[in-house]
Amino acid sequence: MDNAHIKHIAQQLGFDACGIARIDRVDDEAAKRYHQWLISGKNGCMEWAQNHQEIRENPELLLEGARSVIVVAMNYYPQVFQSESAPQFAYYAYGRDYHEVMKQKLWMLGEAIERETGCKSRACVDSAPLRERYWAQRAGVGFIGWNNQLIIPGKGSYFFLGVLVTTLELEPDKPCLDHCLQCHACEKACPSGALRCGETVDARRCLSCLTIEHKGELPEWVKDVIGNRVYGCDECQKCCPHNRNAVGNTTPEFQPKPELLSLTRDDILTMTQEQFSSIFSHSAVKRAKLAGLQRNAKLLRN
Ligand code: SF4
Ligand code: SF4
Repeated sequence: MDNAHIKHIAQQLGFDACGIARIDRVDDEAAKRYHQWLISGKNGCMEWAQNHQEIRENPELLLEGARSVIVVAMNYYPQVFQSESAPQFAYYAYGRDYHEVMKQKLWMLGEAIERETGCKSRACVDSAPLRERYWAQRAGVGFIGWNNQLIIPGKGSYFFLGVLVTTLELEPDKPCLDHCLQCHACEKACPSGALRCGETVDARRCLSCLTIEHKGELPEWVKDVIGNRVYGCDECQKCCPHNRNAVGNTTPEFQPKPELLSLTRDDILTMTQEQFSSIFSHSAVKRAKLAGLQRNAKLLRN
């Protein structure tokens, strides 16, 4: 089973990009950058980022006998959008939870590999301590922009990433050596000062982290910058010139429910748990829970 065959299967499964890297330790510079991010406290409420450092730096520990890292990407840029006056959900949360969708497809890729070669695989979609963007760059899928997003040349950054760690030995692709246009638009567009170009994101100030991950009350200052963003924030992607040619995805699972598109602030504030579950039970939004969504909605600009 060679790279071309694996990429063909990946494409058949609905992945928009696929690259392959040889398993190895994360390089010293990337490891140092990550440590500095943690030491400076910029991981904020994402305390899990401190766990399992040995595995994060050495993905061989994820699967005995691992030889290769297969990185896949799936477009989530919407075809239809909420009205601008509606409480805004990040685009990635418009459709079905990508963890469910991508993991299923990665399992199928792993099964195809096992059927043909007997080699074992482990599917990871935010479910293991793994540096997805780093491996995507190493596998030639794209480069990491100053907005800290993985950018696929010519396609942009509205892509979910998934990784299959496998014991199958494969020829690695060339790493992607492109870099972003370094235009500073993302730093200027960031509503809360979380982004300094060339530096790691400060999750303590990032509206994406705060509106999704943060538990309990939000800091006072958030109400001055939250605007109309009830779940997540896409500003550092919307402004990026690499996303000018983004094309709406055609994956059935990622199409938004009409109930999400039409939600108003009042709908959210008066929502029952039953209504929340009906709209969001298979959505990434369930991470914030109804209480988190209502906490955010209270702060929104009308
Ligand atoms: S997601 Fe929003 S708040 Fe976070 S860094 Fe990007 S622009 Fe800033
Ligand atoms: S907005 Fe400009 S600086 Fe920021 S990631 Fe895109 S190209 Fe790079």
